[in-house]
Amino acid sequence: RSLVIPIHRKPLAKYGGRHTVTVLPGDGIGPEMMAHLKRIFTFAHVPVDFEVLDIGSRDLSDSALDNAIIAIERNGVALKGNIETKFDDPQFKSRNMELRRRLDLFANILHCKTVPTIPVRHKEIDIVLIRENTEGEYSGIEHQSVKGVVESIKVVTRQKIEQIATLAFDFALANNRKKITAIHKANIQKLGDGLFLKVCREMAETKYKDVKFEHMIVDNASMQLVSRPEQFNGGILLMPNLYGNIISNIACGLVGGPGLVSGMNLGKKYAVFETGTRNTGTSIAGKDVANPTAFIQAAIDMLRYVDEPLHADRLTTALYNTLIVKKIHTADIGGTAKTSEIIEGVIDELKQIFDKEHVH
Ligand code: ATP
Repeated sequence: RSLVIPIHRKPLAKYGGRHTVTVLPGDGIGPEMMAHLKRIFTFAHVPVDFEVLDIGSRDLSDSALDNAIIAIERNGVALKGNIETKFDDPQFKSRNMELRRRLDLFANILHCKTVPTIPVRHKEIDIVLIRENTEGEYSGIEHQSVKGVVESIKVVTRQKIEQIATLAFDFALANNRKKITAIHKANIQKLGDGLFLKVCREMAETKYKDVKFEHMIVDNASMQLVSRPEQFNGGILLMPNLYGNIISNIACGLVGGPGLVSGMNLGKKYAVFETGTRNTGTSIAGKDVANPTAFIQAAIDMLRYVDEPLHADRLTTALYNTLIVKKIHTADIGGTAKTSEIIEGVIDELKQIFDKEHVH
């Protein structure tokens, strides 16, 4: 699969014909996954150098975050593992969220598609999820006005809603997705979600009459997704921030879980590629059992973004052959293979691709 991203970005830095990509391994399985990606890239002669920054629970300081942001601003693009967030300190803001907010990565895009040979309840799912990634419930404005009374403020702006809705409609046209369904709770959050629905609807009725537009309340959307997900096939779910987070996790679960789907975080200037469900996988770190597919897919998305389609295609074929033709599966998708067996499988397939290319 190869999705067209309808976003005009500034040209990326390229040094001596090679891209430098900021790599934030993060916590849990992140560091081992980045090491596997590095090995694959080296083997495949991918012209990408990793600039690794050690932000994660080992260093959660403000300066580590500042350095990560400066590095992404310089290179324009990053590959990222999830950074653990402390629950117990109200002053401490999630590094993942801060990064997205400060780089204005306003869109999170996932493509949840069933993969042959991976056991799931619903066959043939193909849903794109587009989520506003910087505001709403994630505005981070909370306080306790008097003891026992907490105010948690959800901020939404017409500007951000227009920005995400424009991206979603342009995405639908560029990728021939036939329908956009806006997800909301406007029956209760009348002003906040009401504005979201109003702006999306206005856009559908004025600028994008060729794209079919529907809307659905988030609770019903959750039920519909687990009972009749096929109704969303070929379409896009367009969502504000928190509903987007939850619905994305449901959709990833439907196609095989946290180890499979990648997620793009896009802004006008920068892009950060990570896994769709943004787990750390701390409990399975260092055991050689995690499914590396979502990270490999994130690397493929990144290669398309930096305009290296040949390398992206080779890696896609190698991954496809490993997972689907050879059926090398890790435990999360019902197999017995180790992470390293998938990586070896991908490298083996790349070897064959190179052999064929040299022959012809
Ligand atoms: P805990 O379950 O103790 O919270 P965790 O830190 O691993 O551990 P999450 O990072 O939230 O939890 O991940 C949620 C679940 O998804 C866990 O059961 C984790 O093992 C699983 N998981 C996450 N990433 C992967 C992966 N790449 N491959 C297989 N399973 C994964």
